[in-house]
Amino acid sequence: MTPWFDTDKVFIGGRWQPPSGGETLPMMDPSTGQEIGRIARGGPDDIDAAVTAARAALDGPWGKLTAAERGRLLARLGALVTENADALAEMEATDVGKPLTQARADVTALARYCEFYAGAADKVMGQTIPFQQGFTVYTLREPIGVTGHIVPWNYPMQIIGRSLGAALAMGNACVLKPAEEACLTALAFADLARQAGFPEGAVNVVPGLGAEAGAALTAHPGIGHISFTGSVATGRLVQAAAAQNVVPVTLELGGKSPQLFFADADLDAALPFLVNTGLQNAGQTCSASSRILVERPRFEEIADRMAAAYRAKVAAPAMADRDLGPLISARQKEIVEGYLDLAGQGQRIAEGQIAPDAPEGGHYVAPVLLAGVAPEDRLAQEEIFGPVQVLIPFDDEDHAASIANGTPYGLVASVWSADGGRQMRLAKRLRAGQVFLNNYGAAGGVELPFGGTGLSGHGREKGFEALYGFSSLKTVAAHHG
Ligand code: NAD
Repeated sequence: MTPWFDTDKVFIGGRWQPPSGGETLPMMDPSTGQEIGRIARGGPDDIDAAVTAARAALDGPWGKLTAAERGRLLARLGALVTENADALAEMEATDVGKPLTQARADVTALARYCEFYAGAADKVMGQTIPFQQGFTVYTLREPIGVTGHIVPWNYPMQIIGRSLGAALAMGNACVLKPAEEACLTALAFADLARQAGFPEGAVNVVPGLGAEAGAALTAHPGIGHISFTGSVATGRLVQAAAAQNVVPVTLELGGKSPQLFFADADLDAALPFLVNTGLQNAGQTCSASSRILVERPRFEEIADRMAAAYRAKVAAPAMADRDLGPLISARQKEIVEGYLDLAGQGQRIAEGQIAPDAPEGGHYVAPVLLAGVAPEDRLAQEEIFGPVQVLIPFDDEDHAASIANGTPYGLVASVWSADGGRQMRLAKRLRAGQVFLNNYGAAGGVELPFGGTGLSGHGREKGFEALYGFSSLKTVAAHHG
């Protein structure tokens, strides 16, 4: 895997340049634990330069483009993503440690975000509002200005697509701070935006540490909106920093998302969703379905079927393209193993395997299916962010809803049932930003507004909602007598 750009630079004002401090950070391969290159250690001066370049873009050529022209640039960017699909997938797989097939799906999603927001750019409209005699009143949706985007390591391409795609379509100029653990495709995105012809300063990318580059971005007075995807702990810091500048934030945080399986549901249809949505990206997915709630009459049957599926799952290097890869880091492996230590022997009802030839230094954890865990237990309450799911029985609809809603999170939920009335009741009752009926995740759906309640965050990305989130609404009231 050799990227076509220098990985140890920052991208500011349309140009690649060394970070102002001249320092770099290691780029690690989670599949081997080996260093495979260097990335820039951007800092406050780079962030300041990026915000200045973004401001200049808004006041210059980028700010003068029509919505249709912005859409054309995004369409060109999407086409370039597709043309470079093999290279992007290989970079993401290597950098994040995810199986190649899953990385390819992320490339497709990035291209699709570009395509969707290309088409949406010139379809954001205001309203005319009936008002008093002698007035004409209407609203304008305008770009906010310079938007800051902080993304995590687990799905860089998808999160960049949904966040920058919408912000650029709305006419904002963006400063992106990717995660220090995996920022290769963020750099590739910057270069593809350059190739697509985005005016300089519209897209800026400054890799670096969260406490340095990330904190400088959230504290910068030139930023008009911060979109943050990551942990609850960092989300709190980001919101506190944004409060100082009184700017809005979108927080996409973690989850403990449940699937509710009722006795009348089709298990053959549900089984791949019950298992794979918990193990995708080795469970390092904000919307992972980490709790499987099952109506008691079918609990044993489902436990047996899921256990069999677990025993067949193999963790292997990303490029071997098996069921799951390693975790992102030694630290993440330690956290997940710490949670698994809380489980008693009888609670670990099935385990997958680690490929015998997986390199020693890789951060592999075999998937583990747990049962006999009380809903209020830490294993059923906290986000583990690893290949671990918990099976919990319930007695009836009320019981299922109370367990499902019984964590501080509220990101995603699903209901498997043949009963239409029950589906509708639970769709209203479940505390989540997205509820799926007889499916889970709707294949990612770039068109579908996404976000959480409670500790899962606030604000919505994806779909048209994201465009509204990245815009500022102005009311114009004309008095003409
Ligand atoms: P993290 O919060 O540690 O890091 C996320 C990003 O924040 C990184 O770019 C990091 O450099 C930056 N950061 C760290 N400290 C900062 C600071 N003080 N100021 C500003 N930026 C800072 O999260 P993580 O461990 O990398 O990611 C895992 C978490 O992300 C999980 O909790 C997961 O659920 C969540 N996540 C949520 C979604 C979603 O859409 N809801 C998607 C993916 C991941």
